[in-house]
Amino acid sequence: MKPKKIEHIGIAVKSLETAIPFFESVLGLTCYAIEEVKDQKVKTAFFKVGDTKIELLESTDPEGPIGKFIEKRGEGVHHIALAVENVQQALNEASDKGVMLIDKQPRKGAEGLNIAFIHPKSTFGILTELCENPNINC
Ligand code: ZN
Repeated sequence: MKPKKIEHIGIAVKSLETAIPFFESVLGLTCYAIEEVKDQKVKTAFFKVGDTKIELLESTDPEGPIGKFIEKRGEGVHHIALAVENVQQALNEASDKGVMLIDKQPRKGAEGLNIAFIHPKSTFGILTELCENPNINC
């Protein structure tokens, strides 16, 4: 699989409106994109931190994955995303090694990336996203 870098770290927040000013005025980062991912029932906000990114996730539906996560565990780190060359291939490799997958095939995530999740039961409790930029080799 050989990830090339940490593409981003996903952080679940109750409100983008409350969280964005912290990242901007305290950390000095700039929010460069806000995007709703209907499929995931989230609104995302992105910040570049050097070569990687922070993705804030606000739930648009209490029944969605982020809504449930916050209800159970509160705000905080939700997942890490690793950039790989080919998500499908990485999924196949992981599956061959007996790893539990959430997605058997890649789907579209924020920023037009092809993404898929590996089950935290197989990754020491860390929900792991694999992502591939179909346009630029990220
Ligand atoms: Zn993500």
